[in-house]
Amino acid sequence: MQYFIDVILPIPLEKLFTYAVSKEEAEFLCAGMRVGVPFGKSKIYTALVYRVHTDAPKLYEAKEIDRILDEHPIVNTIQLKHWQWIADYYMCTIGEVFRSAVPGAFLLESETLILRNDKEEVDESTLEDDEFLVYEALQHQSALKVQEVSAIVDRKNILPVLNRLIEKNVVLLKEEMYEQYKPKLIRYVKLGKAYLEEAKLEALLNDLSRAPKQSQVVLSLFQLQATSKKPIKVTELENISGGSKSVIKSLVNKGILEEYFIRTDRVNYEGDEGGELKALNEYQQKAFDDISESFKEDKVTLLHGVTSSGKTEVYVRLIEECVQRGQQALYLLPEIALTTQLISRLQEYFGELVSVFHSKYSVQERVEVYNNVLLKENKAQIVIGARSALFLPFSDLGLIIVDEEHESSFKQFDPAPRYHARDAAVVLAKLHKANILLGSATPSIESFYNAKIGKYGYAEISRRYGNVLMPDIELVDLKEQSRKRRMKGHFSERLFLGIQEALEAGEQVILFQNRRGYAPIVECTTCGHSPQCPNCDVSLTYHQYKKQLRCHYCGYHMALQKSCQACGSPTLDTKGFGTEQVEKELETLFPDAKTWRMDLDTTRGKHGYEKIITAFEQQEMDILVGTQMLTKGLDFRNVSLVGIMNADSLLNFPDYRAHERCFQLLTQVAGRAGRTKKRGKVLIQSYNPYHQILQQVSTHDYDSMFKEQLYEREQYKYPPNNRVIRITFKHKEYNKLNEATEWFAKALRTTLGGNVLGPEYPPVARVRNLYLKNVLIKIPHAQSAVKTKAAIKRIEKSFHSVGQYRSVRVIYNVDHI
Ligand code: ADP
Ligand code: ZN
Ligand code: ZN
Repeated sequence: MQYFIDVILPIPLEKLFTYAVSKEEAEFLCAGMRVGVPFGKSKIYTALVYRVHTDAPKLYEAKEIDRILDEHPIVNTIQLKHWQWIADYYMCTIGEVFRSAVPGAFLLESETLILRNDKEEVDESTLEDDEFLVYEALQHQSALKVQEVSAIVDRKNILPVLNRLIEKNVVLLKEEMYEQYKPKLIRYVKLGKAYLEEAKLEALLNDLSRAPKQSQVVLSLFQLQATSKKPIKVTELENISGGSKSVIKSLVNKGILEEYFIRTDRVNYEGDEGGELKALNEYQQKAFDDISESFKEDKVTLLHGVTSSGKTEVYVRLIEECVQRGQQALYLLPEIALTTQLISRLQEYFGELVSVFHSKYSVQERVEVYNNVLLKENKAQIVIGARSALFLPFSDLGLIIVDEEHESSFKQFDPAPRYHARDAAVVLAKLHKANILLGSATPSIESFYNAKIGKYGYAEISRRYGNVLMPDIELVDLKEQSRKRRMKGHFSERLFLGIQEALEAGEQVILFQNRRGYAPIVECTTCGHSPQCPNCDVSLTYHQYKKQLRCHYCGYHMALQKSCQACGSPTLDTKGFGTEQVEKELETLFPDAKTWRMDLDTTRGKHGYEKIITAFEQQEMDILVGTQMLTKGLDFRNVSLVGIMNADSLLNFPDYRAHERCFQLLTQVAGRAGRTKKRGKVLIQSYNPYHQILQQVSTHDYDSMFKEQLYEREQYKYPPNNRVIRITFKHKEYNKLNEATEWFAKALRTTLGGNVLGPEYPPVARVRNLYLKNVLIKIPHAQSAVKTKAAIKRIEKSFHSVGQYRSVRVIYNVDHI
């Protein structure tokens, strides 16, 4: 009998690939383990076993695997099912899902070296035969490669023998391989063994009386030991004793102190836990009861709670129940809402049960969380993370919370899989038979619709916690204000006075402008030329701080020229405005106020974002100017005024979701105002204050917004009742792209009829030197989405078999947003 495995390769291959394995290997291997396999001419890939079987592939001869990389699966069968669903639904390959689902460190390729352990005496009589062979080989050379060990013991799965040799201290591994992950070691100190007796210690302190610094270190060590039984870190001792590194080092050299290392997780929580759960008020309690009822019917449930209604406390209750049952809980948030504010709130209640999974964390930190979830460790019983946390190896998930479920950043844009984390979470919950709650102050049209038709359960909190009133929202007519010459730069008199009043009362202000930089366009007033990006069809944005013109699509930048590059006149002017300009104007209008800016440019680095939030929270600044980054999940106590510099830019997007988004964004920003007793004020500046969306925002009228938007979506066959797939084509040659997309669209129309729009250029039609063109496919409610996708895939096959179209990239975005 011959044995085979089907594996997933981390590349965009349509099918699983089959390799030959021995009987022993077949017995050892199971789905979810990694193997090294040769693929193509000379490359070795890390692949994942999908299935072990005995059916030889018909079309090719199966190669043998290179090696086995795991002793236990690192991916479980629920995950594999989930990946398959994502690949099918979002029209990508399971290999692409594999690549983005496991930490990069799990996919790396290189060599492990096995070294002789020179520090230990080896008793050869204790070695088994295979162990002896390796041991003997290492007497002749100092290091062996994995393949060499394989050859010596004549077996591919060498992990057992290596593990035994490591346990017996015969060999060491030099990890240069697959697992780039290195555990972090922390340096600790304790008193040397010789000084543990009291008499010796006294003598020591006597001796040290002439070395006050050293004696201070020893005394501090005692103090620390007296107050806490925990091991003492070297850094801690340094801080407390004021002793320098060299003082401690000389104590270690003398044997008075002893150093040792403990492996720690990088993502440790060190505070106290056991914060009391807050008692829910009647509205929260009602919502909690409704959710529990809905969970009993195994329904996905939507919690619609206005900003500051205390949704988090309701989540905490649900998590508490889940943890009590001994199950794992996952708390998903959009990246930008994943703040220390929220993390510490959860840690207060659940202490070290909470792990955080964040793209700003290092590979190492992510591997640690992955492994902790895999081993079902307590410290990862509750995981809070952004969309990719969905791919952690949960084995016993009891609850998923998707907070801010309306957020478009839950949808992965690039690369594939272009999945929506909320929807993929619903599927994951089903696979685990887990409860799932979607929460938002401004639910997506899709989720609210699902609740309306009874597909989802529904719970509501329509009041803010603690009788705090909803903010008072006022629309400011910019047309009128300009006509009456009441504008100071981009500030209406109304907004100016509002800020003045807030500052005088010692309160804080948030200003929102959805554009970073100083001005989006620089234009010559003589000839009309404006500098463009050489790689993209878009104007360069002026960043005054760096005196630069930058492209927000590809990062291209150049110094600002003194005169027009086209006509040479020194008549350059700016159009439009971004956060930088708002900040500049504030310096003149409110010279005494401390102002800060929060956008992509000021929040780079792991803690950039956090620092600004903390400083604002601690009232080190008066005014915070920012982009949509400041809309999410922030709970500032002292903000009495929120100003929206210009709402019009949000209304004018050529996208069927623009109005829904505008409503959500403005309501969320407005929700930052007045979260304590005093009623918050929101001023929205606009040239169209009578626009229905702005009216709905100002009257907190979600229901009208929903009804109107649903009606329009129905008229034009958009979601929620219909589905959309956007296909983007990319190529560097303009003409070829045009021809290719016409071909594809025609084939689509022949098969699918009238619900194919385009091809059309997107607003920015060239990015990084590639031209882009889109085709949009609408799939009406009654039409099978599965069959439609299959038809599109068939068309793609014939398309790519046409020679001159082979190099055109085709990108599917299912449920694109
Ligand atoms: P949301 O997430 O709905 O915007 P939060 O959960 O941030 O609202 O709650 C708003 C504020 O009200 C927070 O400061 C929170 O600590 C407080 N709060 C909410 N519920 C309670 C409660 N049951 N007891 C005490 N304080 C609460
Ligand atoms: Zn000019
Ligand atoms: Zn560019």
